[in-house]
Amino acid sequence: MTLTLSCNNKCLFCPRKDFLKWIVCGSWKEIVREIKDVSRRSRKIVLTGGEVTVYPGLFRVLNICRKVFRDIEIISNGRKMKETAFLDKLIGSGANAFAISIYSLSDAVHDTITGVKGSCRETKKGILNLIKARKTRRITIRINTTLSAGNALHAVDMIKKLYLLGIRDFIIAEEIILNKRRKALDLQGIRKALEDVSRLKFRDIRIVLKGFPPCLVRDLRNPFIRYEPYGLESCIKKGWRQEKYTERFRGNFAKLKKCSGCSLDKHCPGFQKYYPDAGRFIRPVS
Ligand code: SF4
Repeated sequence: MTLTLSCNNKCLFCPRKDFLKWIVCGSWKEIVREIKDVSRRSRKIVLTGGEVTVYPGLFRVLNICRKVFRDIEIISNGRKMKETAFLDKLIGSGANAFAISIYSLSDAVHDTITGVKGSCRETKKGILNLIKARKTRRITIRINTTLSAGNALHAVDMIKKLYLLGIRDFIIAEEIILNKRRKALDLQGIRKALEDVSRLKFRDIRIVLKGFPPCLVRDLRNPFIRYEPYGLESCIKKGWRQEKYTERFRGNFAKLKKCSGCSLDKHCPGFQKYYPDAGRFIRPVS
């Protein structure tokens, strides 16, 4: 459930203005209706934004959710969790799964991506507070990162260091390339970064590769790396807004002629059309 588009970061690749505006809850009535809708299908709800922790009605939402869901996940940049009192209140209100978005442990790299000086330090403090809280509370922690030209070289190092702190679950997501004028990481850069990740020697780690052209990452899967394609069907709103969202999202993708001979053709949305080196790296899967 997307509760708000407001955010305390200004990430370079944020999709909220282009995509999420179509699926954000527009009113309290809509929030209540959506909670009911999710509760009919699932015992877990995921609350997100924008940045969900800056949404003023978050604790009101949590108070309803805790009565109907077994699991409540918060996707957040974790900055507000730098205050232990705030984190305690979230956990006390029923949140028991936390997915924190961080792009690098280097302040300079992360802050350049988020556009907010000091954001990395706050996010890291939030993660440390979560790790501390996990010692006494039943919560799970996952790290979400988006691979981009600014942080690809730092991805492995970040995962290693967070692993040593006790984090075991990661999602590495593909950047949604919204603006072809901005230099995005090309497929060669993505492949290189993910190959490095696939060579990690930690056996009890779980890494999900989210998005990315299936043919590019197919052979990188191993016992600790799973591939998850884009799941637009998880968007629960029905009607013209959801259609607009799906249409806008799919409009970002393309296929090559040779894709028609690919065994994944029917299930693959294609690759993002702004990749300059698609001709070299997109290869039909037999
Ligand atoms: S359909 Fe095209 S983009 Fe998708 S996996 Fe096959 S070759 Fe790659």
